[in-house]
Amino acid sequence: MTTRRGPLLLLAALALPVAALGAQSAGVPRATPIVGDIRFLASDSLGGRLTGSPGNDSAAAYLARRFRQIGLVPGGDSGTYFQAWTVGSTTSTRQAGVEGRATKNVVGVLRGSDRRLAGSAIVIGAHFDHLGTGPFGSLAPDSAGRVHNGADDNASGTAAVLEIARILGSSRPRPARTIVFVLFSGEEEGSLGSAYYADHPVLPMDSTLAMLNLDMVGRMRERRLLILGARSAAEWQPLLDSVNAGIRVELRASGDGWGPSDHATFFARRRPVLHFFTDLHEDYHRPSDDWEKINAEGIVLVADFVAALTRRLATRPALTFVDAPPPAPVAAGTGERPYLGTIPDMSDEPGGVRLSGVRSGSPAESAGLRGGDILIGVGDAPIANLQDFQNALVAHRPGDRVEIRFRRGDQTLTTSAVLGRRS
Ligand SMILES: [Zn+2]
Repeated sequence: MTTRRGPLLLLAALALPVAALGAQSAGVPRATPIVGDIRFLASDSLGGRLTGSPGNDSAAAYLARRFRQIGLVPGGDSGTYFQAWTVGSTTSTRQAGVEGRATKNVVGVLRGSDRRLAGSAIVIGAHFDHLGTGPFGSLAPDSAGRVHNGADDNASGTAAVLEIARILGSSRPRPARTIVFVLFSGEEEGSLGSAYYADHPVLPMDSTLAMLNLDMVGRMRERRLLILGARSAAEWQPLLDSVNAGIRVELRASGDGWGPSDHATFFARRRPVLHFFTDLHEDYHRPSDDWEKINAEGIVLVADFVAALTRRLATRPALTFVDAPPPAPVAAGTGERPYLGTIPDMSDEPGGVRLSGVRSGSPAESAGLRGGDILIGVGDAPIANLQDFQNALVAHRPGDRVEIRFRRGDQTLTTSAVLGRRS
């Protein structure tokens, strides 16, 4: 979003969810409060919600008011919704310029209705921070200084959590287990807010049945919903299929519990996890990730799915955790990362990496790659999945010419690209 938005819009956006919720029974579409939440969080006036910035604090204050409105019990420090923490010193926090800043998670609780099960929790989470004005984390280095609005990443997941809380909070009987809703700060610098929560949970991690993460759920296309982490519990696949019998999205469930978002924090502590996701797109980590491009009806579907799943989880016995080895660390080092400009389609693993597109002007475009191609080799390395692809890329340097093998239709083709430089 490039137009300047003044305080008037801010007030309008603040008032909208209240009005919309109150009028819900009078036929206001369910997408309306979702749009209101996203419009506020992704407005230029919040400046991109960089961890520990004034806009990040305003977002937290707004979310606490929404939790109160919905009727959640405060789950933060000394009777508030806020769980305050200080950003530590890592390469990412220094690069982002947020080291040493104060920030907070927002935590609300729906106490379990069953005395026996209320001591056990289901955590439903989303991160509300984003990249501010870059350049740290931005994929549009030329636009540093412009607000990265983060409507899909992750105002969408944040709004979805509010809608799930509203659904479960108003359902009778209330869920048997305790549901803990956590909106994390510090995700973009390495899932820092979820790490803090995992060390300071509302109910002990051992008593946490599962963690459901909503990160980027605002761009649903053709009812397609990706659920990553589906291999982190033996029971996930049948459970998801049975929930989907009542929702009927085009479900793509796959993967272990690792991944570049807050659910991995819980998976590392041996909790079953799921990451709900409506896939990557051109505006990812760019100033153009704006509220106007959000599919709010799609978010309603995601919220309904997660609410229905949570109801089932709230009464069932423990899940069977399925571990997986952590991914190989991406080589850190020179700080010069090679750039190809492909946009992976993460909806399945067809024995390679399927592309949903390539960035215009990128090395991938010059090499003749296009959406639908399935990458199967880079240089000497075979490519079976995204991790292979990433490892193969970082094994090269910007300026290197690499051979790329790919499938297009029933042909196997070869091209080559000169890797660019990503700052
Ligand atoms: Zn992000």
